[in-house]
Amino acid sequence: MLRWTIALIAALVAGGASAQEGGFGSLARLNPEASAITAQRGEVQIRLSLSQGVPFRIFTLDAPERLVVDFREVDWVGTLGPELVQTKLVRTARVGGFRPGWSRMVLELAGPFALAHAVLNTGAEDGSADLVLTLAHTSAEDFAAGAGVPPAQPGWDLPNPADVAPADAPRGEGGPLVVVLDPGHGGIDPGADAGGTLEKDLMLGFARELKEALLRAGNTRVVMTREDDSFVSLERRVSIAHGARADLFLSLHADSLGEGMARGATIYKLGADASDAASAALAERHNRADMLAGVDLSGTDDVVADVLMDLARMETQPRADLMARALVVALKDAGLPVNSRPLRSASFSVLKSPDIPSILLELGFLSNGRDLDNLTDPEWRAGMAQAIADAVGAWTIADAANARLVRQ
Ligand SMILES: [Zn+2]
Repeated sequence: MLRWTIALIAALVAGGASAQEGGFGSLARLNPEASAITAQRGEVQIRLSLSQGVPFRIFTLDAPERLVVDFREVDWVGTLGPELVQTKLVRTARVGGFRPGWSRMVLELAGPFALAHAVLNTGAEDGSADLVLTLAHTSAEDFAAGAGVPPAQPGWDLPNPADVAPADAPRGEGGPLVVVLDPGHGGIDPGADAGGTLEKDLMLGFARELKEALLRAGNTRVVMTREDDSFVSLERRVSIAHGARADLFLSLHADSLGEGMARGATIYKLGADASDAASAALAERHNRADMLAGVDLSGTDDVVADVLMDLARMETQPRADLMARALVVALKDAGLPVNSRPLRSASFSVLKSPDIPSILLELGFLSNGRDLDNLTDPEWRAGMAQAIADAVGAWTIADAANARLVRQ
């Protein structure tokens, strides 16, 4: 059994260099028409046609069974992955950026399939390369034994979630308010897709605009969980908020929901039980995105930590409630479309900081035509950013007043 197939082939790097000299750019490009994930005689075959060879590595993850292929950066030419799958032996596929300069493909397998062959065919006149992987059925025990993230190698891995630079000194009286903005999704996780308009791109752009609005208000420091189109695990988003000693965490989204019925801004706070089925589905989908991006989720449960978090949340939750209500008031005051039931709760992993008031804001729903028009309109977004900045200002004053009451 191949445990970790780590293919770092110098010849391929040289191939990349010659393509660069030829003026084609250094990025390997996928040819989606010549690429597919199929099955033959019970074996899965993955064929990726690339404009040039790139170093890659392959590993598997369990619970659920996944195959992960990391590459030196590949231009996926708009392919998101699911359209490559032509067999029921693979539930779905995701392709995209993983971290700057590196790309990833993740297959969610319909059972325990292990890598049997990996071949990279190069040598065509144009320098193109075909990566062909064959997966054969194996036992669940063997699959589990062979699964796991390979040993750390420079460049290939996400930063350790705990490895976030500690912030400057904690905020004293009158120090700047630290707001962490979390543009939803990113990299291999595109979020909602409205005819090519991707949630991850819209939210990164909006977060930058909101950052400016918050900085204009003064005495505020803004930290972003991502500054570019990179994948950031949910765990790391929370770690970044802790590292920054955030006073407030705002996760920004514009998902697709139902058949375009959901519309208007909707504000989610953490709840053990979702306030409704749609909220539960939304939280599940977001928490699942990490799985589909190939994050190893084994060993992330910790009962003791859960108890400590529950204790801390008893103090944090009312402060998050206050922020949620401030948002509804500010958005309505600004005449912005607000959902008919704007305050909801669900078990979003990204809201699980025990000591930081955390809110997930659906600015609107990409599945709704009017919301989509709004979200792609710079003027509308400027009004939304200002309204959120106003809500943060109102919350800061009310939160400080509450804190004084508690101390008395
Ligand atoms: Zn989202």
